[in-house]
Amino acid sequence: MTEPVRILVVGGGYVGMYTALRLQRQLKAELRDRTAEITVVTPEPYMTYQPFLPEAAAGSISPRHVVVPLRRVLDRCRIVIGEVHSLDHAKRTATLSTLATEEEGTGHVRLAYDELVIAPGSVSRTLPVPGLADHAIGFKTVEEAIGLRNHVIEQMDIASSTRDPAIRDAALTFVFVGGGYAGVEALAELEDMARYTARYYHNLKPEDLRWVLVEATDRILPEVGEEMGRYAIRELRGRNIDVRLGTRLESCENRVAVLSDGTRLPTRTVVWTASVRPAPLVAATGLPRDERGRIVCTARLTVDGVDHAWAAGDAAAVPDVTAGEPGTTCAPNAQHAVRQTKVLAENIAASLRGQPLKDYAHSYAGSVASLGLHKGVAHVYGRKLKGYPAWFMHRAYHLSRVPTFNRKARVLAEWTLSGLFKREIVSLGSLEHPRAEFELAAAPPPAPKDPSPPDGTPGEPAG
Ligand SMILES: Cc1cc2nc3c(=O)[nH]c(=O)nc-3n(C[C@H](O)[C@H](O)[C@H](O)COP(=O)(O)OP(=O)(O)OC[C@H]3O[C@@H](n4cnc5c(N)ncnc54)[C@H](O)[C@@H]3O)c2cc1C
Repeated sequence: MTEPVRILVVGGGYVGMYTALRLQRQLKAELRDRTAEITVVTPEPYMTYQPFLPEAAAGSISPRHVVVPLRRVLDRCRIVIGEVHSLDHAKRTATLSTLATEEEGTGHVRLAYDELVIAPGSVSRTLPVPGLADHAIGFKTVEEAIGLRNHVIEQMDIASSTRDPAIRDAALTFVFVGGGYAGVEALAELEDMARYTARYYHNLKPEDLRWVLVEATDRILPEVGEEMGRYAIRELRGRNIDVRLGTRLESCENRVAVLSDGTRLPTRTVVWTASVRPAPLVAATGLPRDERGRIVCTARLTVDGVDHAWAAGDAAAVPDVTAGEPGTTCAPNAQHAVRQTKVLAENIAASLRGQPLKDYAHSYAGSVASLGLHKGVAHVYGRKLKGYPAWFMHRAYHLSRVPTFNRKARVLAEWTLSGLFKREIVSLGSLEHPRAEFELAAAPPPAPKDPSPPDGTPGEPAG
């Protein structure tokens, strides 16, 4: 019996999941005859549908429904929950750690393969801004989105119960850096949620909350074009959101965000969504990289000059053959990532069968963005929409795109229910510390304390 062709897919995001899913279909016979096998190595057992993260942060979709369980979808693949640390492509081996290797203390393990699909995506591109690494949060994962939701509501609870105006102001100031769709949608959805939530506080008004969007260039949402970007700025400013164009975050030490225009904003919330860079693994693959650190690919989605290696998505520099200018590469977005996986899987199957490969060609169709409940902006196939129609289109588009019928049905059910009932307004931040209650119960009783607290009602000025 011949040895099976071992296909290793690194990453279980858009590219990893869709490539493995399409390969399952393309290589049905080979997988059944055991002449091919597919292994997916990914740190999480799920794929995250990132465009739904802002709605998850707003509480319109529950966190479980923005992720897709890989074991269920990729039922003919072997799923390894772990992290690839390096590759030796000449020897066709990947070095990785899994939860078990960490538990056993055995160090890293090697995995041999014949064909490599490298799709570790991107991470936030940070700059050496003082205090950024210690105080800011990103917005790329479901953990960050839910953590941020809990944090915002918690800040409102702090502001409502403090008697110190400085603490109150800092708690109610939210600074977002980066005006792409991740930053704008996250800010717009959270502001909308917090505005609604404020009505349930006896001493908070929506106007007390200060939302600031800091963008280094002179526009936001470049994905929807200049005109719609200007509309988005007007929409946000109309909601009292402070949009600062041509401005950079200079520092965020000691809970003060200092902007390049000299503004100092005491705040406990700095959200960094200013651009992405390839995942750190890419530098440890030995594969050719471009000046932005992405893997250099051909239009056939092979790694340039390297046999049996394929790449796509945010970590790959794929030539945009539809662009007029030579040397243009595809932007890092889901629109390209998903379409690339179709060509990628077909090309892998074709190469195994000795058939010719195809080029990836897709001209950018435009984009849709939500600016909160019933508000949005869109520029798709030359059509410009704003307000409710754009928001509706955003929902319809993403409902059609979120993987699996199961997730589509659940998300639709949630949207329907949230139209009938009031929004959820609680912070479940304590979920991040599930043992806290038990630790308190198990701890010895504290020694009695002497000083009695000052009189007064929480949230009212001391006097
Ligand atoms: C908030 C937000 C909203 C967005 N909205 C839109 C939108 O509306 N439209 C649009 O077109 N695009 C959108 N995007 C961008 C889109 O989500 C990305 O372009 C897309 O996810 C890229 O796919 P990918 O497979 O390359 O990376 P990812 O989907 O990020 O997947 C990478 C995977 O690799 C794994 N990985 C990383 N390192 C390793 C390692 N060392 N070993 C093993 N696995 C590893 C990661 O854990 C992850 O599972 C949005 C992004 C964000 C953050």
